[in-house]
Amino acid sequence: MTAGSSIDPNHPAFAHIPVWVQEKLSPKAVQTIQKVHDWVENECIPAEPIVKAQIEQDKKTEWKTPKLITELREKAKKEGLFNLFLPKSFGHLSPGLTNLEYSCCADIMGKCYWAAQTMNCHAPDTGNMELLAKYCNEEQKKKWLQPLLNGETFSAYSMTEPDVASSDATNISCRVEQDPSDPNMLVINGRKLYGNCKWNAELGFYILMACSDSNNPNPWSRHTMVIVPKDTPGFRMVRNLTIMGYDHAPEGHGEYLYTNARVPKENIILGMGRAFEIAQGRLGPGRIHHCMRLLGQTERAYELALLRATDPAKKPRGKLIGAFDSNIERLAHIRMTLDSLRGVVLNAAHTMDVRGNKAGKYAIAQCKVLVPAQCAELIDECMQMYGGQGLTQHTPLPEMWTYARFVRIADGPDAAHRHQGEISRTLWEMGN
Ligand SMILES: Cc1cc2nc3c(=O)[nH]c(=O)nc-3n(C[C@H](O)[C@H](O)[C@H](O)COP(=O)(O)OP(=O)(O)OC[C@H]3O[C@@H](n4cnc5c(N)ncnc54)[C@H](O)[C@@H]3O)c2cc1C
Repeated sequence: MTAGSSIDPNHPAFAHIPVWVQEKLSPKAVQTIQKVHDWVENECIPAEPIVKAQIEQDKKTEWKTPKLITELREKAKKEGLFNLFLPKSFGHLSPGLTNLEYSCCADIMGKCYWAAQTMNCHAPDTGNMELLAKYCNEEQKKKWLQPLLNGETFSAYSMTEPDVASSDATNISCRVEQDPSDPNMLVINGRKLYGNCKWNAELGFYILMACSDSNNPNPWSRHTMVIVPKDTPGFRMVRNLTIMGYDHAPEGHGEYLYTNARVPKENIILGMGRAFEIAQGRLGPGRIHHCMRLLGQTERAYELALLRATDPAKKPRGKLIGAFDSNIERLAHIRMTLDSLRGVVLNAAHTMDVRGNKAGKYAIAQCKVLVPAQCAELIDECMQMYGGQGLTQHTPLPEMWTYARFVRIADGPDAAHRHQGEISRTLWEMGN
């Protein structure tokens, strides 16, 4: 049963959802989208200055989730707003939304950078939970997945390395091998870049991708994924990385060194040499959650641009900034581009729902290539309307721009995504 006709067209939660999507929403989804909208507008956005102040205060002693976010997580859980991202295909674990329906929720969540975290729908935990739900045995699920689903801990994904081109994961060179002194243990040696920061007090474990059989003639069978608890001896964080100057506390991004770090063999996910099977399976909704939320971030930037365009205190040549033709055209360009990018994301989500994740590969790549780059451009246009203030902490625009810019690289650079499916096949045919 769909609820398209029962949607209140004046409710702001549905203002940017195309009609073809509205008509596919279940009554439950309509209700959830409204709840997510009210949650973000009433609980998250007004709390932004407090959360910022708590992060700065906490950083002086310990990196940890700000108290207000922890409280909001408890509240969101009670209100049934937790783990909305797990698609219906995950059975009893899923709250029952399709990817298309979740995309409408995530878009709204994106209006506040950390709102997704209050609903346990943040990266990289969403991708990690999908992975653990799909590939872990029952024991492992109890130990590693359940605490994440309960919101009791956070996790990190550790694949990238500083010394190889990691966008081609067959290059990954950090080693995970049988411990010669203990048949039940593995030993890890190597360097890693990125993966959330160890300083975060609530972070529990890393999902590590490492090379276990460099001599295997099949390059897709050389790697293994293994769970590494944060406090494993021999596993050291060298420093926190800043992204365009932001430390992104308390989640952060670390640079790591493994020196004879030992973990039990029972922490291997799926089996030795099977990392690429898992990585293929990770090509799911988690790949485009950032894109979904970037739409919301850009929507917020657009709202800020409208405010500046109509600010009576700011009148160059005696006119509102929004009264200049160039700015009317600029705003129209932002509005229309943003709506068309939303179409790209919703199409990918729907393709995954009706054809499966594998068939959605091209549509996912299309999101990864188009959305971050264009959202960064659109946010840049909004910054321009704010003049000098737009580049300072007087507005959240620089942080929003940084988010869009980093998604061009995180989860694989856009250039690599251009090699997906139909795009690379067409280019290959043209070249032959
Ligand atoms: C904010 C942020 C968070 C991140 N979080 C994580 C994380 O949690 N875990 C993790 O493991 N990694 C994380 N990453 C790392 C990210 O996934 C990698 O940086 C990315 O996959 C690229 O790998 P690389 O840096 O080794 O670049 P390389 O593979 O060396 O590529 C460098 C450049 O070469 C070009 N290039 C690469 N492939 C192609 C191609 N096929 N065709 C044409 N040109 C190409 C592109 O311009 C590319 O940007 C994060 C990155 C950022 C910015």
